[in-house]
Amino acid sequence: MSAPHLASVLFPMPVPEPFDYEIPAGMDIGKGTLVRAPLGTRSMHGVVWDVRAKTDADENRKLKAVKEVLDVPPLPVGVLEFVDFVARYCCHLQGVVLRMVLSSPDALCPSPTHTTYRPGDQTCIKMTEARQRVFAATHKGHFNAAELARAANVSPGVIKTLADAGGLIADEQSVDRPFTQPHPAREGLTLTPIQRDAAHELIALTRQDAFAPALLDGVTGSGKTEVYFDAIADVLRKDPKAQVLVLLPEIALTQDVLARFETRFGAPPAEWHSERTKMQRRRVWREVANGRARIVVGARSALFLPFADLRLIVVDEEHDSSYKQEDGVLYHARDMAVARAKFSKAAIILASATPSLETMRNARAGRYAHVCLPARPGAAVLPPISTIDLREHPPEAGCWLSPPLIHAMAQTLSKQEQCLLFLNRRGYAPLTICRKCGERMKAPDSATYLVEHRYSGRLVCHLTGYSIPKPKHCPACGTADSLHPVGPGVERLYEEVTGLFPEQNVEIFSSDTTKHADDVRALIARMETGKIDILIGTQMAAKGHNFPGLTLVGVVDADMGLHGADLRAGERTYQTLAQVAGRAGRADKPGRAILQTHQPDHEAILALCSGQRETFIEAELSLREDMGFPPFGRLAALIFSAATEHDAQAAAQAFAAVAPLVEGVDVWGPSEPPLNRVRGRWRRRLLLRAEPHIDLSAMISAWRTRVKLHRNVRVKVDIDPYSFL
Ligand code: ADP
Repeated sequence: MSAPHLASVLFPMPVPEPFDYEIPAGMDIGKGTLVRAPLGTRSMHGVVWDVRAKTDADENRKLKAVKEVLDVPPLPVGVLEFVDFVARYCCHLQGVVLRMVLSSPDALCPSPTHTTYRPGDQTCIKMTEARQRVFAATHKGHFNAAELARAANVSPGVIKTLADAGGLIADEQSVDRPFTQPHPAREGLTLTPIQRDAAHELIALTRQDAFAPALLDGVTGSGKTEVYFDAIADVLRKDPKAQVLVLLPEIALTQDVLARFETRFGAPPAEWHSERTKMQRRRVWREVANGRARIVVGARSALFLPFADLRLIVVDEEHDSSYKQEDGVLYHARDMAVARAKFSKAAIILASATPSLETMRNARAGRYAHVCLPARPGAAVLPPISTIDLREHPPEAGCWLSPPLIHAMAQTLSKQEQCLLFLNRRGYAPLTICRKCGERMKAPDSATYLVEHRYSGRLVCHLTGYSIPKPKHCPACGTADSLHPVGPGVERLYEEVTGLFPEQNVEIFSSDTTKHADDVRALIARMETGKIDILIGTQMAAKGHNFPGLTLVGVVDADMGLHGADLRAGERTYQTLAQVAGRAGRADKPGRAILQTHQPDHEAILALCSGQRETFIEAELSLREDMGFPPFGRLAALIFSAATEHDAQAAAQAFAAVAPLVEGVDVWGPSEPPLNRVRGRWRRRLLLRAEPHIDLSAMISAWRTRVKLHRNVRVKVDIDPYSFL
């Protein structure tokens, strides 16, 4: 076979496919090689998607040549296949998906270097106390001059003099230092027999060296993390090149979780999430690509990192709806993680106390191994969950806590134990209304109500971040001081709680009070050490945390998620409430959870209180099956947006008019969604439901080519939608 002469190069930009280039003689290029090639008047970096010999048809093409090969390890074929799959499945441009892989452009250039110092010939210098401190400090790490001077508590001049005299030797080092390698042989906690069996099952799967999916289904606090730590340790021990990716919902990526990894493996994992700086991202990207970052803990975008040898993926809290990316390429990280594992022939563990119905069905059908942890270890027991019927025990006017819940809180506090009140609403009040004319304060450019934030004195749109100072006069009728808050947010609840329990320390845990990782860490530490008596939390407080002194969880509005025409409303309510209830009684003191509700007979609430998860899952699954909804059928949404309502409607209608008439596919709409305007653009939706065997993605891609849309109209394809707004 003749040597390949042509390379198809895919660029990380909005292009649907790779472009062909000549390969200059002697250039070593294969699939996955990162190269620089001319594009228009510029030269761009891209990835070789394929190489082939020239055919006769190529002879007359005027092709440009690849310019250079970048000094970065080639992307493994599994990564290329994954990009192709995501682009096809999510109906998005291949180049845009590649951009998610090449997410740190800096990592493609050589890392900057800096000068570090190590001890040289100490016989040629006169030793002083300060100089001794410098030599001692060189053994603590690779420091540059300023760092070394700081570490030794000397002036920078001392370092310079020592270096000039040969007492210190200067080395040029990449600023991207390698990560400390984890120690998989370190012992973890002693597992209980049930945990040990679960860990063995997972380890057996990871040792197959093939695609092997498992659901790790364990009640809150049952030790799922400890168990998957054992599986990770085994993978790393068996193969010195193996890499592991652990995905967490962004919100759960707190320092205490990362600290658990460090305790277990003796080294911090590589972190990948939105709070990382450009420099940190470059370092992680490069270390992942060259195989030296062995444990990566990240949010959903970590799936697109260029692992050299990915052997295991863990998706923790796999049911979490924040795994669905709702901007740009719309993908579900859990589902794409399964695909990623397939293309990398790796094992994947989906862990949850409240698995999604999709995963549950796969486990029941035997497609995923089902590994169970039915109880908490040691003295910790699952908290009983009970309800307070708000129709029988209404709170006082203008208040949100019913007398029985207040009583339970008082009991808990009298024992020096802690309470968590869960209310998933940021700010003071979700709605502001004029008492005179009934005007509701809305965002000017979106179909949303403005939420009052009393601490900042502003009305805020939670969708776009738009905000204004709270006006003194109603903008509609001009009446002064007539704007009135309606409904509770965590700030308003705080007012009520501090009024009821003035002696106690009360704090709010929401994205407004903990803007940075440091704030979260400090708040968690205050809660763990008992400095907080009552914590009022949004969903940030609901998952992942272990607060040993927390024994009462009160859910202020258990019905909140049950409203609205969302097919997952019951499932999601069940999951959220089970998670938040699971924060109680995680150590030796027994806990309990109390739900305030107007619907104590709702299936989700009944299932929570009786602990009959299987009955609930059964009922939900059979409902979904009757409707042909996921996981028994497939859904996709087309979302049109335009500057005018007329254009959005016309575009949706033009699409609907040429909808494919395929047996087993229903097309519903166009409909006006509840969010009919966002950032000034009007919106319309089409919803498709299809039998499970139908390739909805291919159908939609073909359909899109049949309609020519006006430049100003945008259409987004949402395969497997989770939001119907
Ligand atoms: P999950 O991930 O299922 O919520 P975790 O792994 O976070 O559970 O465990 C809950 C708590 O119980 C943690 O503080 C953990 O360290 C502790 N724990 C779990 N298993 C054991 C064990 N075998 N021995 C001692 N403590 C354990």
